[in-house]
Amino acid sequence: MIPGARLVILGRQGAGKGTQCVRLSRHYVVPHISTGDMLRAAVREQTELGVLAKDIMDTGGLVGDDIMIGLVAERLGKADALSRGYILDGFPRTVKQADALDDIAGDKPIHVVIDLFVPREVVLQRISARRVCRDCGTNYTATGAERQPWICEVCGGDVMHRDDDTPEAIEHRLDLYEQQTAPLIEYYQSQGRLAVIDGVGTPDAVFRVLAAAVDGSR
Ligand code: ADP
Repeated sequence: MIPGARLVILGRQGAGKGTQCVRLSRHYVVPHISTGDMLRAAVREQTELGVLAKDIMDTGGLVGDDIMIGLVAERLGKADALSRGYILDGFPRTVKQADALDDIAGDKPIHVVIDLFVPREVVLQRISARRVCRDCGTNYTATGAERQPWICEVCGGDVMHRDDDTPEAIEHRLDLYEQQTAPLIEYYQSQGRLAVIDGVGTPDAVFRVLAAAVDGSR
């Protein structure tokens, strides 16, 4: 395996992007850049961005394009991303963000855009059981048998239900995904840059198919 890749991963909330990005990041030795994680860190640290983003995120809305584009441009300008590449998770979410990403990437274009496809009924079930470490973002699936407080086995942080994983906010985010992000799938498909990967299966099985698609694109 040759290290280094520039990837975008699209998929509904709960499609398994977080889980697969951790694996892709280790496999290709590139940073996993999740705009959701960046925003949640800003909310926790109560930065200017965090204060602005909190209410939007809690109700499942989208933070403004210009703010998100600035945030990602800054992150992709760092040495690790410039030299080895990155996996972008949660960005782009609109066609305007996708256009901006092509400008930011410049002469080092994205190798492949992955659509991790999981039907809506399946993700709804997955999200209701989803828990996340508030410090490192590791995802867990609740069975109801966990000891409380639930401590992250990766970093020792608190494992919690995300503030925006309420049924109303989830439905709203899934609707928004159809409206605003699904057109991106068409956009990248028409440019021949999209790989659709079936996200229903064990994490290992999904990863094998994903890595084969990435290897074929570089
Ligand atoms: P999910 O995919 O489960 O909705 P994320 O962790 O990717 O969650 O993002 C959480 C929230 O952060 C989103 O609901 C949205 O409010 C905000 N957000 C993240 N990325 C973007 C983006 N590229 N553009 C606009 N808002 C974003």
